[in-house]
Amino acid sequence: MNSDNLQTKTDKSAVEVPEHPHWPPLSEMEKQQLTSHIKRLLDEQDAALVAHYYTSPDLQILAEETGGCVADSLEMARFGSKVKSKTLVVCGVRFMGETAKIINPEKRVLMPDMEATCSLDLGCKIDEFSRFCDAHADRTIVVYANTSAEVKARADWVVTSGIALPIVKHLAEQGKKILWAPDKHLGHYVQQMSGADILLWDGSCVVHEEFKSVALERIRRIHPDAAVLVHPESPQAIIDQADVVGSTTALIKAVSSMDNLEFIVATDRGIFHKMQQQAPNKLLIECPTAGDGASCQSCAHCPWMEMNSLQTLAATLESGRNTIEIDASLRERALRPVQRMLDFAEQQGIQMKKRGDA
Ligand code: SF4
Repeated sequence: MNSDNLQTKTDKSAVEVPEHPHWPPLSEMEKQQLTSHIKRLLDEQDAALVAHYYTSPDLQILAEETGGCVADSLEMARFGSKVKSKTLVVCGVRFMGETAKIINPEKRVLMPDMEATCSLDLGCKIDEFSRFCDAHADRTIVVYANTSAEVKARADWVVTSGIALPIVKHLAEQGKKILWAPDKHLGHYVQQMSGADILLWDGSCVVHEEFKSVALERIRRIHPDAAVLVHPESPQAIIDQADVVGSTTALIKAVSSMDNLEFIVATDRGIFHKMQQQAPNKLLIECPTAGDGASCQSCAHCPWMEMNSLQTLAATLESGRNTIEIDASLRERALRPVQRMLDFAEQQGIQMKKRGDA
């Protein structure tokens, strides 16, 4: 990656990565009782459950059993506007709850844990980001969905990983120069694929950042017939080894549509549940997160996503706490770039659900 394009150095030490939460194991009986209790609460409160692919299988199963959805971040938000339920319970991270509220202001939006956030969001604070934008006022501001409502409100466009490339190509065709935030790896990938003039914010995802290229080379030699599936939040050296680069939905689709029987997967291992559900006979192998002597903080699983559990979900529904609120004028400003993306997808006939996001 050309460091000339990285105009702002994020202080990585400022992004504190929490320990993985340790949920007390539940017996089958306890799990059944808890899920029945949650189902009753969802019903009583006219609530729909939307869960991200990176959350635990328990939550994904529950969302599907109760008529909710399991999806990428954009589909989670879009689902919210399709269902009639008055309440949406978003099992994911903070920006997903906020996006759901931005698109569906009339609904009550709850989250199991308000501390569940994202290193990309944490590494792109509005004040610093605004200064960055002011310093490059000639550029069109494109931000990834993994940002706060404030950062979205400062942007011209919001994109997900599934639609970033067509939108940037469209802007480049109009001769626009782009300011991209916050994920430098996804931004670099889009830059390579589109040839656009892009200035990158220096942010990254703690999960994808940890995949190691030498260890991946080694595991590819052990499994020579395995296809390598890579989410574009991964570093370039990992993307260079990919057979498929794509959003979560695109990677899930690749597992069921490709003839390979083995896959090395470079994204959060929470996605394995859905992949295995759709292609039970295929072998899924985690892309290594630590080379010799290295350590990992996330180890291919997002600690913030893991804050969502049956226990925290039940507690939220019981207490009604953890409601997402967004100031009306901020919401209006944040909606504009989000709506622009949705309209673009509509006009281009891009089926976001099939192409997916992160
Ligand atoms: S996996 Fe990465 S991008 Fe996704 S929520 Fe966690 S830190 Fe953010």
